[in-house]
Amino acid sequence: MRKDGQNVVKKRKVRQGKKEGICGYCGKITQLSEDHVIPQCLFAGKCPNDTPTIYACERCNNIVKSGNDIYLRDMLFMDMHSAQHPIVQQLWEKFKRAVSRNQSPAAKYALSNGRYVRLHTVSGIFREWAYEMNLPLERVTDILSMMTRGLYQYYVGRKLPQYSQFEVMRIQGDLRQFETTIQVLLQLGAPFVTVGDGEVFQCIYACSAAHPEVSLWFLCFYNSVVFSVVTNRQVSQQAPSSHAKPAESI
Ligand SMILES: [Zn+2]
Repeated sequence: MRKDGQNVVKKRKVRQGKKEGICGYCGKITQLSEDHVIPQCLFAGKCPNDTPTIYACERCNNIVKSGNDIYLRDMLFMDMHSAQHPIVQQLWEKFKRAVSRNQSPAAKYALSNGRYVRLHTVSGIFREWAYEMNLPLERVTDILSMMTRGLYQYYVGRKLPQYSQFEVMRIQGDLRQFETTIQVLLQLGAPFVTVGDGEVFQCIYACSAAHPEVSLWFLCFYNSVVFSVVTNRQVSQQAPSSHAKPAESI
């Protein structure tokens, strides 16, 4: 993703000391703890100070999100596009240990469901063998949906409705068509966010003026793996007289 024309984002810090409230992920009213929306395990060392955080319930933070974080890390570490990134290389031994201790559900799944495939150059010449992981799409969608919900709350400053729908798509190989979209979004003033120096995570997003719960996100990990996420696309396709609920405010 290009940083040209980087737009300024007002960062909203989670109110410190808040113990009881609404979970930013599931909406339950209960005791809350601070969650790093971008997993700490993706960073070598401490998270940068500007890592987005929201408050979440015990289950979302320490059970669901913790599992998601490890799954996302291992998925990115096994991805041929991000595996060579210096930070991934730095953390590689940690990942290897997790795999050898059978603590990596993503690696376990990939090893039992993947297959070797031949990769070719654009002109059709055999280039190399690669291992196709075929990770379950639903799991990847769940992880990135939850992350987008957290990012929306932190950066947009509102909560997505609980009924929100998420369409997640991995952008394969050729980014050019999306680069154009990204440039257009930047020109329209869409915020471009980097966490730390942006090596681990950066994103650009835009919300519909008429329906703020309709939003488009490009999430980029390790400068090489990009996902697009669209929230509540169906709302924008409904007639203005529809009964869509407005986005909840914090
Ligand atoms: Zn929760």
